Amino acid sequence: MLRSDSLPTSPEPVANGLPEPVLRELLQCLRDWLDTQRDDNGAMALLRGLVAESIKAEANSKDIQLREFDAQELAEACDWPEQDDFTAASKKVKGVQFDAYLESRERSVEAFFEGKGFAHAIRLGKHSPRGRHRAKWFLEAYVPGEQKDPTALQPVDQPVEPVLEAPSQQIEYGYSEAGTVKSSYLAHLLLGKGSFKVKSARGLLFACTFLVPGILLLLLVATGGLHLLMDRPLRTADLAFAIFAFGIGWFMLDQIRTTWWLLEDRIIPAPDGLVRLTEEPAQLESFKVDQGRVIGLVRYTANCPVCAAAVELRYGQGHERRRLFGCCVEAAQEHLFTFDRVTRRGTRVR
Ligand SMILES: [Zn+2]
Repeated sequence: MLRSDSLPTSPEPVANGLPEPVLRELLQCLRDWLDTQRDDNGAMALLRGLVAESIKAEANSKDIQLREFDAQELAEACDWPEQDDFTAASKKVKGVQFDAYLESRERSVEAFFEGKGFAHAIRLGKHSPRGRHRAKWFLEAYVPGEQKDPTALQPVDQPVEPVLEAPSQQIEYGYSEAGTVKSSYLAHLLLGKGSFKVKSARGLLFACTFLVPGILLLLLVATGGLHLLMDRPLRTADLAFAIFAFGIGWFMLDQIRTTWWLLEDRIIPAPDGLVRLTEEPAQLESFKVDQGRVIGLVRYTANCPVCAAAVELRYGQGHERRRLFGCCVEAAQEHLFTFDRVTRRGTRVR
């Protein structure tokens, strides 16, 4: 490890301009930093795989090129199902945006390395050769604040492209169709295998989710009206009833509004009770199948183009409280994207 007081005086073989043990310690330090992160997403898994493979390769060989990995090798390191198909692996690696993940946390990484007494930190590099050659990623040491000099580290015939361009302002949402999202046992009754036709027995059950609150609301109003007709002093029980009725009425109105928005807007965030606790948030969507309207439990997902964290659909605030936005779970107020369920795309709001 390159501590500030132990700069290259070592006779060890040099890689990335650093003695081998130093690079190994830096890689282990990056692994320690990853352990401090609470994210559990594809970018994190990929980085863990890349660090592990880099440490392994570094221990086995002094050849720098053996520490470079293409998409398929990275998928293999993570034991992803895409490891047998290079095209699928490339798509998966591109989708998790692990370069954005590390780049957006650069300050945190540098501070962590500094806190451990290192003058160097680790960042991601990428070779993008032309023609049929595969792009490769690698981890390299650098001095925070110094300009990158990639050609000093790599053969000149392999162009090195900046790992991360300016964060994209566009976002694309992935879609898990009804039937693939695991519903709670309670919701099994309503959703069956993930969806139901509106004109069916389950549809009738669904209709009850706003008919019953509607009837209860009317009963509450009628009871309140009857109280107006009574000519007697106000009792504590009346006040307690008023508070109770207000609470129940509010809950019923919210229930009716939720169902109404689902029918009007075609999509709402699924109530927590419908999705298994271990599952990511999902949505209830209304769509057409064979001329019939169907309501199903689906999931729109995306990775934040800025920091690679997961993006969840949440309602906006104020006059946009009925509009769904893609919110980054790590910076929900800053990494905010529009959501269009038809095009499954969005643009950055802020
Ligand atoms: Zn983000």
